[in-house]
Amino acid sequence: MDANNFDCIVLGAGIQGSYTAYHLAKNKKKTLLVEQFVLPHSRGSSHGHTRIIRKAYQQDYYTRMMSECYQLWAQLEKEANVEIYRNTGMLVVGKEDCSAFRSLRGTLLRNNIPMEVLSPEQFASRFPSVRLPPGESAVIDKTAGVLHADRALKAIQDLFRGLGGVIHDGEKVVDFTPGSPITMTTNSGMYHAQSLVITAGPWAKSVLARTGLQLPLQVLRINVCYWKERIPGTYGIGRHFPCFIGVKQHGAKHDIYGLPSNEYPGLMKICYHSGSETEPDERDRQTSQEDIAILSSFVSKSFPGLDPTPAVVEQCMYTVTPDSDFILDQHPSHSNIIIGAGFSGHGFKLAPVVGKILCELALGKTPSFDLSPFRITRFQPLLKSAL
Ligand SMILES: Cc1cc2nc3c(=O)[nH]c(=O)nc-3n(C[C@H](O)[C@H](O)[C@H](O)COP(=O)(O)OP(=O)(O)OC[C@H]3O[C@@H](n4cnc5c(N)ncnc54)[C@H](O)[C@@H]3O)c2cc1C
Repeated sequence: MDANNFDCIVLGAGIQGSYTAYHLAKNKKKTLLVEQFVLPHSRGSSHGHTRIIRKAYQQDYYTRMMSECYQLWAQLEKEANVEIYRNTGMLVVGKEDCSAFRSLRGTLLRNNIPMEVLSPEQFASRFPSVRLPPGESAVIDKTAGVLHADRALKAIQDLFRGLGGVIHDGEKVVDFTPGSPITMTTNSGMYHAQSLVITAGPWAKSVLARTGLQLPLQVLRINVCYWKERIPGTYGIGRHFPCFIGVKQHGAKHDIYGLPSNEYPGLMKICYHSGSETEPDERDRQTSQEDIAILSSFVSKSFPGLDPTPAVVEQCMYTVTPDSDFILDQHPSHSNIIIGAGFSGHGFKLAPVVGKILCELALGKTPSFDLSPFRITRFQPLLKSAL
């Protein structure tokens, strides 16, 4: 068989593409994973030490997908012999009259997820270093915790290689021609495959525009802020401080989330779940500080044990859809081109199942989950191209 002929090519080696490639290789498919940057890199959405994993979602379908995700993350830990998940629990705080907060709590209750509802008194005694604003309530998702993101990405790529998978990094896809087989051209080679999975993260919109498909995706630059503990360890993972989500607190338009201090000792990560629009190759030209001002105000009101000026600011990108749901679908005109995009700042934890679904679509199998929330047709009125 020609070395440049594959059963499947996966475009983009972030967490979604890498997990998809792994599932394809497990299904004994000859698979090529192509990445424009030399691995590991910090120019997309999957880099960094940590991500939150949780079952607390507003929608039942994510909570249900998470059950299998936990099993698959545990399987990855076992196969790669590396710790990826650490259980910390997650505090969810919000106003009783906020529908997003109520739906999140409702999903936990409905799905029998291990949880706790805290009264203001219980909150004050359990978390004396956090202020609960009057009229707000708190619940704990006991299943939640921290995923070691960089470790997870490397582990899944190593396992893919171990299964005979081929990774070409530092190789940018510059063109592809739909058909059977699909022909794909990079800056250093030409390849053929029966199917192509596009998991290009923030570049998905421009990559797909080559096929005439204009998806309503917006790329946001996210400032990843770390805040200094006045007394080191106050919010530390070693002291069992949990992750948290503040649902639209203090009048913020978007949620604010945090992870216990861990990767940088004495610094706690707290970020705004939104950012300023950018082009993926222009990320570092975007210098808006609006989100940092919102975070500073939040930190001084809710986390008195932190200095309200960020000590470290790193960058990452979200690729968001209008409804914040993912796109997991076949290309509307080319059924052997599969699209995984628009992970809207919450896709890491779900990557094991996303990869499984994209693999199933690439192999023409019936997907294991109902994909109606993730179909491209939901954007029909917004799509510029004819479907
Ligand atoms: C600050 C921040 C915090 C987050 N927190 C959480 C969290 O707590 N929990 C959670 O579940 N999720 C979280 N997320 C979201 C999660 O990290 C993303 O949903 C996920 O990483 C998206 O992965 P991806 O593979 O789609 O994209 P990417 O990681 O960007 O991968 C796409 C890859 O495609 C490559 N590529 C693009 N075009 C080409 C081309 N032409 N040729 C070759 N390669 C190409 C890119 O270089 C890139 O490596 C967070 C994201 C950010 C930014």
